[in-house]
Amino acid sequence: MSPPGRPKGESFEREREGGPVDPPGRPEGESSEREPEGRLVAADALAAARRMLAGVRRLAVLTGAGMSAESGVPTFRDAHTGLWSRFDPMQLASPEGFRADPPLVWRWYAWRRELVAKARPNAGHLALAEAAAHFERLCVVTQNVDGLHQRAGSRDVIELHGSIVRSRCLAECGALFARPEELPAGEPPRCPRCGSWLRPDVVWFGERLDPEALAAAERACTEADALLVVGTSGLVYPAAGLPMQARRAGAPVVIVNPQPTEIDAVADAVVRAAAGAALPALLGGAGAV
Ligand SMILES: [Zn+2]
Repeated sequence: MSPPGRPKGESFEREREGGPVDPPGRPEGESSEREPEGRLVAADALAAARRMLAGVRRLAVLTGAGMSAESGVPTFRDAHTGLWSRFDPMQLASPEGFRADPPLVWRWYAWRRELVAKARPNAGHLALAEAAAHFERLCVVTQNVDGLHQRAGSRDVIELHGSIVRSRCLAECGALFARPEELPAGEPPRCPRCGSWLRPDVVWFGERLDPEALAAAERACTEADALLVVGTSGLVYPAAGLPMQARRAGAPVVIVNPQPTEIDAVADAVVRAAAGAALPALLGGAGAV
């Protein structure tokens, strides 16, 4: 069950956080009370957002769990269910948890990989991939670990929290498997180079983001002419700081999310809609160029 103040559908982003801790002092409904009048009129917001994107040459797009949830990919919390609910998230998604019971963690990720494999990119993923041709650069910075942007056809993707599809050596010898079907046997398999365990190539609780990925994301957001923020609650840093960085660098920020987010105040336009509905309308046709 979701505790108050924490909309379902964002927990995937929290994969790397220090624990399943909710931010303090955020009672249900607080965000909507701060909602400025008029922002709920989706059509107006969409028109305003389209105007902001008109003439943009370099577009950065920050995506979060809401984007994946629309494709039916279970969020971290949703995946922490049924048989798995008796395990603490730290047992399933931390380096300590993995070292304590590698087969357990491996099986949880193998199951999630299967769910991801069955999911399909949604209209929002496809709209971003198709729109790339209309921009000098369209860089997707994602907090999602499911690879759906790439499967939709996006080429310029920065995965801040890694990828559930890839596996790498726990001892960091450099061994990397990008395709699950090519993994050696075992639960988990042994690294063919050094004999250590292979682990999912995701950022776990208590781990840092890849500094190169983060620096590339910051560059993409600060060099962009506009930043589009899709399906993210704005709770998880450092990703949640990117909209402010873009804003400071002079780029308008457009948020697409069905619910209020923690970063709405940073935005120049807020479109209250799902990505699958809003992105084709926002990026399709003449509005994108
Ligand atoms: Zn190795």
